[in-house]
Formats: sequence, structure tokens, C-alpha cells
Amino acid sequence: MAEILKAKPVADAMKADMIQRVEALKGKGITPKLGIIRVGARPDDLFYEGGAKKTCTGVGMECEVFEYPETIDQAAFEQAVTEIGARKDVNGILMFSPLPKHLNERKIRTLIPVEKDVDCLTTSGAAKVFTDDATGFPPCTPSACMEMLHFYNIPIKGKKCVVVGRSLVVGKPLAMLLLREHGTVTICHSRTENLPGVCQDGEIVIAAVGKAKMLKGNFFKAGQTVIDVGINPDPDNPGKYCGDVDFAQAEPIVNKISPVPGGVGSITTSVLCKHTIMACEMQNA
Ligand code: NDP
Repeated sequence: MAEILKAKPVADAMKADMIQRVEALKGKGITPKLGIIRVGARPDDLFYEGGAKKTCTGVGMECEVFEYPETIDQAAFEQAVTEIGARKDVNGILMFSPLPKHLNERKIRTLIPVEKDVDCLTTSGAAKVFTDDATGFPPCTPSACMEMLHFYNIPIKGKKCVVVGRSLVVGKPLAMLLLREHGTVTICHSRTENLPGVCQDGEIVIAAVGKAKMLKGNFFKAGQTVIDVGINPDPDNPGKYCGDVDFAQAEPIVNKISPVPGGVGSITTSVLCKHTIMACEMQNA
């Protein structure tokens, strides 16, 4: 039986730390604020926004949503994002993407000041992450994986870490964070040969593929730690969702495994708030 790496104790510990940090900032007359920029009203965005607002409130932070119609034009939206970026009271900015097709998202992202880029939406933010500059914020999901590994005291230094997925949102930045902590990192993707063998050789295996239950029992061996980033509709349980790892097959084999739901995905809003508090601390140092 593997140890289940649940999100709740991680999120609870993060919350306790954030409450203290927010109190310290309030003692100086500053309340950290997250600004969420949303165009339209996609259900997934609204769900995430609700979670972010709740987490902000729970730690004493503020959260302001800047909502725009899908018909907004480029000039008006550029002006809005520039104004939000300049607001002294907004310390961190999350902008939902993709934006509607008529908007030039690449250009709009550049208008987010890097010191407020708490989800790594800008190339300057990514450059900081990829050059080990601690003033840059990684995207929330890879940070959530690191929070989980740290909370459960899973050693990274010198360990073989296999990351399955090379997206800019998860796989690549996560590999950089593991490398920063002296992991020996292998990044896998759709052209990787003998993927089950490569995964079996890892001590920490992190799946960020986007394919339901793709990593079967033959990807794993005893003693491994498995972090499942995937969020997919569960083909076997309509209306539910599942990870990229076949949990029923992997769990009896490995040492530790994060579940879906109740794993990495449940820590991301806590990370978003933590990054905003860190941004606020740096802006007011
Ligand atoms: P992307 O689709 O951008 O990237 C998927 C990666 O998986 C690509 O690098 C792709 O390789 C690789 N891949 C696809 N098929 C295979 C295969 N058969 N074998 C090996 N590698 C493969 O997805 P994201 O990185 O955005 O997301 C990954 C997963 O994480 C999704 O399930 C998503 O829902 C979830 N997610 C969860 C979040 C959370 O908060 N928990 C947040 C963000 C994402 P290639 O580059 O060669 O195409």
C-alpha cells in the first residue's frame, strides 16, 4: 500500500504560513491583493476564480476580479491591462487564457509587469525561472508539485526525476525547479522511446501528459514517488475526473503517490496566493 500524498495537509500548512505573512504585512499597513483578469465567462475559469477568491479571503488577502466582455477590442484591452499593471494596490496578476482569437495575447502578456507576474505569463518571468532568479515566479502548477514534494519530505537532491510532458506551463519549468534542487532530471515527451522503461528507472516520476490513466503498472517499480498532475475526464466514471496515472495499477506498486482529485490540482490556488504574498513582500521591501 502506497502512502497517499494528499493535498489537504499541504494546503493547510501553506495557509497557516500565509496567514502569518499577511498579518505581518498588515502590521505595516499593506494588504496583499491578487488581480484576476478575465475575458468572457468560461466555466473552468469561473471555477478556478472561485477557488482563488476563497483562498485569498481565507488568508486575509484581497482579490479583485477585472471582467471584460469577449467583444473587447485590442486597444481597449491593452489599456485596461496597462492600468491594472500600474495599480499600486494590486501585487499579483493572473490573466485567464486563451484570450479570444481576435486579441493578440502575446502582446497583451507583455503588459503585465514582471514583478506582478505570479503565474509566469510573461517571457521575462519565464526567463527568471529558467535562469534561477528567485525573484521570478514559476507557473503555479509546477510550484504546487514542489510544495507537495517538500511537505512530504521527499528528497530531490541527487535523485532520478522523470518528468513526462514538456509544456511551458508544466513540464519544462518543473524540470528547472527539480534541477535547481539538484535532481537528475529526464524530460519525456511524445517521441520518447521506451517511455515505460524510462519511468521505471526514475525515483520520482511526475506525469503531466493530459491523457487519462496513460501511465500503467508497467511504468512503475517499488520505492518510487509518483506525482500526478493530470486532470482528465474519467473514461470509466462519467462526470468524474482522473489523472494521467492509472492509480489502481500504480498504487499497489509504488511507495508514495498523489491522488486525482485531491492532489496537485488542489494546491494551485494556494500557490497563486503565496506567490502574490511574496510579490507584495518584494514590492514593499
Ligand atoms: P500539454 O498538452 O501542453 O502537454 C502535454 C505534454 O505531454 C506534451 O509535452 C506532450 O509531448 C506530452 N505527451 C502527450 N502524449 C504523450 C505520450 N503518449 N507519451 C509521452 N508524452 C506525451 O499539457 P499541459 O502540460 O498543459 O498539461 C498536462 C496535464 O496537466 C493535463 O492533464 C492538464 O489537464 C494538467 N494540468 C493540471 C494543472 C493543475 O493545476 N493540476 C494545471 C495545468 C495542467 P509533445 O511535446 O511531444 O507533444
